[in-house]
Amino acid sequence: MNNRDIIARDLNAVWHPCTQMKDHEWLPLVPIKRGQGVWLEDFDGNRYIDAISSWWVNLFGHANPRINQALKQQLDELEHVILAGFSHKPVVDLSERLVDITPAPLSRCFYTDNGSSAVEVALKMSYHYWKNCGDAGKTKFITLSQSYHGETLGTLGVGDVALYKETYKPLLMEAITVPSPDCFHRADGESWESHTRRMFELMETALEAHAHEAAAVIVEPLLQCATGMRMYHPAYLELLREACDRHGVHLIADEIATGFGRTGTMFACEQAAICPDFLLLSKGLTAGYLPLAVVMTNDTVYQAFYDDFATLRAFMHSHSYTGNPLACRAALATLDIFKQDQVIARNRSLAEYMRQAVSHLESHPHVGEIRQHGMVLAIEMVKDKASREPFPWQERRGLRVYQHALTREALLRPLGNVVYLMPPYVIHEAQIDHLATVASEGIELATRD
Ligand SMILES: *Cc1c(COP(=O)(O)O)cnc(C)c1O
Repeated sequence: MNNRDIIARDLNAVWHPCTQMKDHEWLPLVPIKRGQGVWLEDFDGNRYIDAISSWWVNLFGHANPRINQALKQQLDELEHVILAGFSHKPVVDLSERLVDITPAPLSRCFYTDNGSSAVEVALKMSYHYWKNCGDAGKTKFITLSQSYHGETLGTLGVGDVALYKETYKPLLMEAITVPSPDCFHRADGESWESHTRRMFELMETALEAHAHEAAAVIVEPLLQCATGMRMYHPAYLELLREACDRHGVHLIADEIATGFGRTGTMFACEQAAICPDFLLLSKGLTAGYLPLAVVMTNDTVYQAFYDDFATLRAFMHSHSYTGNPLACRAALATLDIFKQDQVIARNRSLAEYMRQAVSHLESHPHVGEIRQHGMVLAIEMVKDKASREPFPWQERRGLRVYQHALTREALLRPLGNVVYLMPPYVIHEAQIDHLATVASEGIELATRD
């Protein structure tokens, strides 16, 4: 079987995510036969470095021997069991360890099977908490502009990516949207911190106006991935934590993308030394192996639901694959690797190496900014360097970078005009050098006319 055979069959039966299928009349699908470490290999034997960690999920490479081993063992013991009324060892072990490594006072784990449904759970739990406490009027959520929290109707309601949201607007709940502290928009010469603090004043104003009707503020800490890896300073989270407490509003930290070392610390919230009321994790939780997500919360929230059945205060929410044992076992193997290999410390030098490798692009006439939080590095292509005027989205310049990279053994998948590196942590320096070269070539080609 070669690429051509499988592509023809695919296009006959599969509807791909986040894709205008008509594009595949001229843009070839890439059918992958196997993965090994940072490499993906297609059916014709071409190889690609997975520079985007297969949509931000992979941490320790494809076919990682340690995770494979754990999963093979688990497969022979228990593949799945209902988690209501029943339990199993992987879910108990994982819950204890997640409580261990996340900031206090997070003490409870509620599982779902993807990030969007974890966001839905946090929104429901927050509203329901206030209702159980006698305040049923907290029915709104405060969110940041440019935020992304998933694709289901509830999560689109608190998200702000026009391309995904606009069509469905009549179906969505309305959130209170506060301008993002995104530092790309800081004034000339202004520091990240000063811009971030200035932008927080708008959040303070929104909280003053809406705290009585708002259950929670939901944010992606430090890094808004889906809108082009836009970043802000940890000071925002510190201010937000204090303000949420003062106004009696929950803080939901959506660390589905930022968790597990992506921003340089195990969790992005650590950089502001804060603890949210709800912490959401997925993506890297299983190192990119299996779908699993968790909503972590504290004992105060938990106790507001804990009562006799007839009071109907319980959280009656479930998914068929809640707490799947195989997924939990993959997550446990992932946490083992973090511990055994001192991953966070090792990533510091990798992150620095990535920065150096692309530093020559700072002077490129169509590079508006290079920004980084830990293992996420973004290069923003602009039409005009001085004004940072963007290229019109219809020109799809990022796609040209994607196409070029495929011819050069790399999977880069720009978000609009933003080329980024978000590789598995097992990447080597020579591979980073190669990615930097391919990114430079791609940017040169894509911005030429
Ligand atoms: C990916 C993502 C989600 C949604 O997770 P899915 O598993 O794709 O549903 C939510 N929030 C953030 C910040 C994400 O990056």
